[in-house]
Amino acid sequence: METHRLRNLRGPEELRSRIEREAVPRTTLSFYRYVRLSEVEVLRHELYAEWDALGVLGRIYISQEGINAQVSLPSAKLVAFRSALDAREAFKDVPWKIAVEDDGKSFLKLKIKVRPKIVADGLADDAFDVTNVGEHLDAEHFNRKMEEGALVIDMRNNYECLIGHFEGAYLPKADTFRGAIEEVSKVLKGKEEKEVLLYCTGGIRCEKASAYLKHHGFTNVNQLHGGIIDYARQIKDKGLPSKYKGQNFVFDERLAERITADVVSTCMQCGAVSDRISNCKEVTCNMLLVQCEACAGKYADCCSPSCREIHLLPIDAQRAWRKGRSTRSTKTKAINDPEGLRQRIRDEEEFLALGGQYGPTIVDPNKPTK
Ligand SMILES: [Zn+2]
Ligand SMILES: [Zn+2]
Repeated sequence: METHRLRNLRGPEELRSRIEREAVPRTTLSFYRYVRLSEVEVLRHELYAEWDALGVLGRIYISQEGINAQVSLPSAKLVAFRSALDAREAFKDVPWKIAVEDDGKSFLKLKIKVRPKIVADGLADDAFDVTNVGEHLDAEHFNRKMEEGALVIDMRNNYECLIGHFEGAYLPKADTFRGAIEEVSKVLKGKEEKEVLLYCTGGIRCEKASAYLKHHGFTNVNQLHGGIIDYARQIKDKGLPSKYKGQNFVFDERLAERITADVVSTCMQCGAVSDRISNCKEVTCNMLLVQCEACAGKYADCCSPSCREIHLLPIDAQRAWRKGRSTRSTKTKAINDPEGLRQRIRDEEEFLALGGQYGPTIVDPNKPTK
């Protein structure tokens, strides 16, 4: 096979206009599966040839542990694509999720990448079988097992759990998947026989987490099929009560989607009940915040008085100030220490009240000078 042909070498402009000219309705969908794959490079070339011929675009990762795919394809080719997947034992009946909000232009190219893992999780998982997963439960069964007293474990990071979660769930303090999974197995130590219910955003992290727990001696591991996203759809479709309260953290510009009207978190700045999530608008900071409306007004959508002062400067002064500064926040994430953030706000306000100034003539806030 001519490997060099199995890539798209056209520029983005040309690709975009091609999709616009194409004018056929496209569907965007995603699927993943943990499954042992062999000869991954060969498979990659075969899939590329097959899917390219169907007009599939998208981003696909394959590895020895499985496949994780986000694709868009002409809606008329959905049936052919389904058959192509089902024709391979490894991908037979793999459930896919069709994107609801879809302009059909989500991808410009077909990219299939061979990776060491389909999700970068930092786990040394050649030590356990990632396909030996827990029992998949739909919303109704998940609810029932919750009522029967099973242990509910959130497999997301701390900042994701904050603005919404299942009632009574264990919420990890870790801010990485690896940290969360290690924390959870420590917390559950001695409860290997208990019934465990795992959940995450879309289900993929629970595949790995359930296999990990089973490998570590847990005998009764269950996971929410399709994650919170599908749970929300099922409770709506079937009129079930939602045991998930609040919002679901999502990884696009929206940051969150509301599942129920409950507000389960508080403003990190003043402590008022709020689940309004945002990032500090000062770009060198960008700290993730739960910030109530009143504080957003008071601090101009920033995390603190110092960020606000920079953010409110004339644009040229802002640029001059940012020059050479890293845009990556080095400040303690407020989520780990909201009291630390509140203390910093108090210190900074005091500094400003004493005539201090943030910005181009920057002064160390810890050493107020008259
Ligand atoms: Zn507030
Ligand atoms: Zn900030």
